Amino acid sequence: MRERSPGAAGWELVEGEVPLGRAPLLFATGLVRHAFTTRRGGVSQGPFRWLNLGWHVGDDPAAVRENRRRLLQALDLAPEKLITAHQVHGTAVGVAEEGVVGRREGPAGENFAGVDALITAQPGLVLAVFVADCLPILLLDPRRKVVAAVHAGWRGTAGRAVVRAVEAMQKHFAVEAGDCLAALGPAIGPCCYQVGDEVAAEFRRTYAGWRDFLRPAQGGGWRLDLWEANRQALQEIGVVDSNLSLSQMCTACHPELFYSHRRDGGRTGRMAALIGLV
Ligand SMILES: [Zn+2]
Repeated sequence: MRERSPGAAGWELVEGEVPLGRAPLLFATGLVRHAFTTRRGGVSQGPFRWLNLGWHVGDDPAAVRENRRRLLQALDLAPEKLITAHQVHGTAVGVAEEGVVGRREGPAGENFAGVDALITAQPGLVLAVFVADCLPILLLDPRRKVVAAVHAGWRGTAGRAVVRAVEAMQKHFAVEAGDCLAALGPAIGPCCYQVGDEVAAEFRRTYAGWRDFLRPAQGGGWRLDLWEANRQALQEIGVVDSNLSLSQMCTACHPELFYSHRRDGGRTGRMAALIGLV
C-alpha cells in the first residue's frame, strides 16, 4: 500500500478561528467553496472537544449549536443554505433542487432522510456530510457546474455510493464522469482500519481489484484502504487519475485534529465535509 503521510498534496489545513481543511484540486477551480472540518475551533468539551457538529452523539446541544454557528460564520453561509441528510450507511442520493431549502425530512431537521450522498447544481447551497472515520468524498463537474458530497464507510464503499452519486449527476444534470473532479478527504487509513472476514468477503465479491486495498492483517483480519477502494470505483466509471486527490490523512492517527469512532471507542464527535457552487 502507498505511504500515508500527513500534509500530503491532497489536503491542506487553512488556519483561522475555525481551521478548515481543503483540497487544492477543488480550491484551484475557483468554482466552489468547500471544507473538511477538523475537531479544532469549537466549544465542546470532554470526548467531544472541540468542534463537534453531530447532534446525536451525547454532546451538549448548546455546544453543538455554537459549533455549527461558528462553522456557518466561517463559511459566510446562511443556516437554511446548509443542506444535510440523515445518513444511514446506504447508497441513496438526495437531489437538492428548488424547494429543498426549508424541507425537513430527517429526525434532526435534516433536509433529507435515508441518504448518504447529496448533489446539486444550485449555486449558493452548500451540501454537507458528517463523518468520524468514514470517508467523505467531494465531487465537482466544473463543466456542467454540479457538485456532490458523499459519505462512504465500508458499507457505502462496498455498495459504491460514490458511483451512485456520479450516476445521479449524470441523470439529473447531464454530467460526464470524465469531467468530474473528486477529492477524497480524511478517513481512517489502512494503518488503523482493521476489518473482519465478512467485510473482506463483501469486497472480494464486489471488486475485481480488491487486492489493491485489502491486505491480511497481522494476527488475523484485514486492513482496508477506503481511499484506494473508492479511487478504484471512480476509475472504473471513467474518472481520470489526474482528477482525483486523496487526502492521505488518517483520522485515527491524528487525535489532535480528528475525531475517530474506532480510536475513541464510539464516544466521539462528528466532522463535516462541505461543498457548494459559488
Ligand atoms: Zn492510522
